[in-house]
Amino acid sequence: MLKCSLCIHDERTAKIDIIDGRPICRECQVYLKHPFNREKIREELDELMKTVEEAVLAYSGGKDSVVALYLAKEVYKIPELEAVMIDHGLMAEEAIENAERIARYLDVPFKILRYDYSDIFREALLKAQSPCRACSRRTMEKLRKYALRNGYRYIITGHELPFGHHPYRQMSGGITQIRLLSLMSEKERLEILGKLPFEFPQLPGYTTNCLVLGPALERYWEKHGHSFEHRRIAALVRYGLMSRERAEEELKRPHVPDEQKELVFKRLGLSL
Ligand SMILES: [Zn+2]
Repeated sequence: MLKCSLCIHDERTAKIDIIDGRPICRECQVYLKHPFNREKIREELDELMKTVEEAVLAYSGGKDSVVALYLAKEVYKIPELEAVMIDHGLMAEEAIENAERIARYLDVPFKILRYDYSDIFREALLKAQSPCRACSRRTMEKLRKYALRNGYRYIITGHELPFGHHPYRQMSGGITQIRLLSLMSEKERLEILGKLPFEFPQLPGYTTNCLVLGPALERYWEKHGHSFEHRRIAALVRYGLMSRERAEEELKRPHVPDEQKELVFKRLGLSL
């Protein structure tokens, strides 16, 4: 089976061509034709952050949003910052503890808004699909409404820049989403986490906050034989933000403890 020589795609997950004697996937080919300018993106982000006086931080209690909170508060020193967690109903207890502890440590006001995303999770598990896109879309919409109600113009998120060329995105209602971790490497993130009282939860999959991800990955694996995060992680390897070894580790078939599976299925009213 052909494997892309630049990222971690193989023939199961992408189309691969031989270019000058090397196997290269279609996504890497597009990137080689239109590489992005790292310095420009970084400058664009710094310029934008200088103008931000008040912002909601999309705070899931997972490692990336914790790093984003640290940067917003300690590096960019945003005067008015509020960390808002959208609890989708199946957050790991450890993530809520991490979220509270770190908001307190960084002295940032913290709020949890609780919702029920069972419909999204049930459908994902029944159809062996990723719940992540629907979940994240709904969360961003809830945060957008929260920002509008409370007079914020910016939502800062712990997203990287896997696809696209700008570290921000305009949302409706004049709200701007800022992807604060654009082009930040895994190593840089871990260094920041090391300065904070962050405790790594023992959760299957690459998540540090979600109980659904493990079971959803497992279902997807059963049906497709690989992870649904392949494309995002391949992009991180392509841009040199994650090592190949680490990526392969993250994409392994997860082992989900029985208690976690039972809890998730029971809460969603599904039988195992
Ligand atoms: Zn590739």
